[in-house]
Amino acid sequence: MDNDNLLSVIFRAIADPGLTEGYKGDRSLTQWQAEAVMRAIAGLRPMTRREHLLSCLAEEGAEIGHRVSKALRFGLGEVQPGQSLTNAERIAEECVDLQAVFDMLAAEGIFPLMTAAELDAGKEAKRLRVEKYMLLARQVGALE
Ligand SMILES: [Mg+2]
Repeated sequence: MDNDNLLSVIFRAIADPGLTEGYKGDRSLTQWQAEAVMRAIAGLRPMTRREHLLSCLAEEGAEIGHRVSKALRFGLGEVQPGQSLTNAERIAEECVDLQAVFDMLAAEGIFPLMTAAELDAGKEAKRLRVEKYMLLARQVGALE
């Protein structure tokens, strides 16, 4: 398949995700479209193990975003009908899912393996960046 045809397949999946994915349900529009694109691309040839794992990683990221959005709308302590866990507990589960898939990719050499010290340093660096930009957000009046 040449690039123009591939682009056409992707555009169609984005423009009409219901064609392959059916009812949107409680997925965000972005997640619905992303899953339609993934299905369209997957139909072109079998995925490699690496692609499958990367797809899982993207899916877990989308699931975190989806659950965080629900928590912002309905509260961290809300339990969605038919579920047993709060939104906060479900966010934590999705973060564990993402970490598990990340670890699988890292174990296959796709990402660099980090030592515990490197991981701690990376987390601390991220914490500092978040605090820095929260300060900026406060200065411009976007954060209380
Ligand atoms: Mg998950």
